[in-house]
Amino acid sequence: SGAASYRGRFAPTPSGPLHFGSLIAALASWLDAHAVGGEWLLRIEDIDPPRCPRGASEDILRQLEAFGLHWDGDVRHQSRRSEAYQHALEKLATLGLAYPCGCSRKDWQGFDHYPGWCREGSLHPDRPQAWRLRTDSTHQPVKVSWQDRRLGRQEWTPAALGDVVLRRRDGFWAYQLAVTVDDGDQGITDVVRGSDLLDNTPWQLLLQRNLDLPTPSYLHLPLARAANGQKLSKQNLAPALPRSEEAARTLLHAALRALGQHPPVESLDAPVQEQLCWAKSHWRSTAIGQGDIVFRPALESR
Ligand code: GLU
Repeated sequence: SGAASYRGRFAPTPSGPLHFGSLIAALASWLDAHAVGGEWLLRIEDIDPPRCPRGASEDILRQLEAFGLHWDGDVRHQSRRSEAYQHALEKLATLGLAYPCGCSRKDWQGFDHYPGWCREGSLHPDRPQAWRLRTDSTHQPVKVSWQDRRLGRQEWTPAALGDVVLRRRDGFWAYQLAVTVDDGDQGITDVVRGSDLLDNTPWQLLLQRNLDLPTPSYLHLPLARAANGQKLSKQNLAPALPRSEEAARTLLHAALRALGQHPPVESLDAPVQEQLCWAKSHWRSTAIGQGDIVFRPALESR
């Protein structure tokens, strides 16, 4: 295949079925990989069991299949990756970059992020401990920057974001550590995901640097909003994507249009394979708009 070195991924949290917003991320990352003959991996980010109902990951696989978004290789589950995360945390602790913290949210209410009180030793060693990443400029670079493929140059100040949690007080692994370790371990070269994660990327860049992992290229997609302006999410009851290919067709067409692509009008009802085939050979990531995507169910499902 063409750019054999491209490796992308879709990394849903199975807290419920996929919705139109997730379709945007799945489709854009799939097309970006397939347009260059790259690989596209599927990683289920099930590190927070209480938030992940039984059967949700199976539903997600069925939904992706309905849209023709097939993945390469085996599906990875983060719930089986504890050892790797533990290993990374130990490395960070050894470097003095991660520290245990017994503070509860209540202790630091009124601050916009945790002020780092436990950096030099836990203030509450008697309580269950979270682990946090040091972001202060004596231990980390003052600024991190990257060239986002849609949003252009990004420059962030880690200290202003705060000492993010790597492992929670309840013992569960936190997103920042898990995603960074797995993107590294799976050799991901290109991350294409929603802009809701934009302000998480600086922490991931720090962790990559601290753990000697390469930094992939990033493209943060427009946010999908409901007509009332709210971000589409399970919380505000965005409708679940269908599980049948027939029902997926017009939604796929709508998602392509939302991504600034111009699928032929007559393919509105075409089989998903046909639409994807067109879309990957015509994919232009630079055509993705600057504004948000607005989802209007009545139109999308006509
Ligand atoms: N699991 C995250 C989510 O569903 C996305 C992770 C990522 O793409 O980095 O919001």
